[in-house]
Amino acid sequence: MPNLSSDLTPIINKRLNNLSASKIRAFDQKVSSIPGIIKLTIGEPDLNTPDHIKNAAIRDIQANDSHYAPQAGKPELLDAISNYLERKIGIHYDPTSEICATVGATGALNDVFMALLNPGDKILVPTPVWALYFQLIKLTGAIPIQIDTKKDNFILTPQHLRHVLDGRGKGAKAIILTNPSNPTGRVYPAEILKELAEVIKEYQIYSVTDEIYAELVYDTVKHHSLSEYIPDRNILISGVSKAYAMTGWRLGYIAGPKEIMQSICKINAFLVTAVTDNVQMAAVEALNNGHDDPKEAKKIYELRLQFMKTGLEKVGFEMATPQGAFYIFAKIPEQYGTDDEQFAFELAQKAQVGVTPGRYFGKGGEGYVRLSYASSNEQMQEALKRIINFVKNL
Ligand code: PMP
Repeated sequence: MPNLSSDLTPIINKRLNNLSASKIRAFDQKVSSIPGIIKLTIGEPDLNTPDHIKNAAIRDIQANDSHYAPQAGKPELLDAISNYLERKIGIHYDPTSEICATVGATGALNDVFMALLNPGDKILVPTPVWALYFQLIKLTGAIPIQIDTKKDNFILTPQHLRHVLDGRGKGAKAIILTNPSNPTGRVYPAEILKELAEVIKEYQIYSVTDEIYAELVYDTVKHHSLSEYIPDRNILISGVSKAYAMTGWRLGYIAGPKEIMQSICKINAFLVTAVTDNVQMAAVEALNNGHDDPKEAKKIYELRLQFMKTGLEKVGFEMATPQGAFYIFAKIPEQYGTDDEQFAFELAQKAQVGVTPGRYFGKGGEGYVRLSYASSNEQMQEALKRIINFVKNL
C-alpha cells in the first residue's frame, strides 16, 4: 500500500491549504481532554428536539417517503417557510421561486457565497463574528473585509458602514450581518437596520443576513430583518437548528429575490441534490406547529443568561447586554490581563471551565471570552462558581 500520510500539500486545492484549521475546534479539543471540565464552548442547545417534530419524521419514514426530494425543497416545506417568514417579518416570498432548503444554515452560507463571490471580490464582515464565514469566503477566493464593531457595543452603525464603503471596503459586493449575533448576543434595532438598508441601497451592494438565532431574543427585544427594508437586496439565511433544538437534523433555508435565488438554488442542487427527504417533513412540523417550542426554550435560556450575567459582572466582567442567541461575550477584567487565549487556557486547566477566547471571532474580540449558556442549569451553576473562585484567586 502506498503511504498516504506523506505530504499531500501539492495536490490539495491551494485555497484550502491557505486556510488555517479552525482555532475554535482545536481549542475545544484541547480543553475537552481535561478531566472534569465543564464546557461552555458549545454552540448548540442542550435541550432535545420536541416529540411532535420527531414523530413527523418517523411517520414520513414509515410512509416510505424516501426518495430524492425536489431540488429546492419539498412543496410542503417551501410553503411552511414562506408562511413562517410572512408571519414573522411580514414579507412574502414565493415558495416556488424565492426559497431554497439547504443542509443547515451552514449549507446556506456556502451556497450563497459560492453563488455571489468571484475570486478577488470583497465582502464586508462586521466582527466579532462566527469565524466559519472567513473560511467559507476564502474558499471562494473572495476577500473578507473585517469591520470591528466593538466601539459601538458590537452593533455596526450606518456611519461606520458608510466610512468603510468609502475606504478600504470600496467596491465591496456585499455585507454579511449576523442578527442576533454569535458571539455577542447583540440584536439589531429596527431603526439601525432601516438606516443600514439606506446605505446598502445607496452604494448598491447586497446584504446577506444570518438569522439562525431569530427565535431566541429576550426581554422586550423584537427581531427584525433587513429583508423588511430591502427585500430586493437582502438574502435571508435561517434554519431550524437553534430554535427547535435540531442542530443534528441539518436543515436550513435561504429566501431572497427571484433572480438571485435561481443561481443560489442551482449551486445547492449541484452540491447536495436535495436536502434529506424525511428531515424536511420534521422541519414542516416545526415551522407550522412548533410555535411554542422556542418560547419554552427561551424561558430557560433567559433565566440562565440573567444568572450568568449577574454572577460575572459581580467579579468585574463587563459586557454589552446580550439580547439573543445563547452566548455571553464578556470582557476579561483588566487586572486579570488582556490575553484572552491565556486566560481561557488557564481557566480550563486550573478551574476546569472551558470558554472560547474572543480573538477567535475576528477583530474586536481580543481581551474577551465567549461563554455559551446552552448547557444544563446544574452545569452553569457549577461553572459560574468555578469562574468566580478562579478570578478571586488570580
Ligand atoms: N450561523 C451562525 C451565526 C451560527 O452560530 C451557527 C452555528 N454555530 C450556524 C450559522 C450554523 O447553523 P446550522 O447548524 O443550521 O448549520
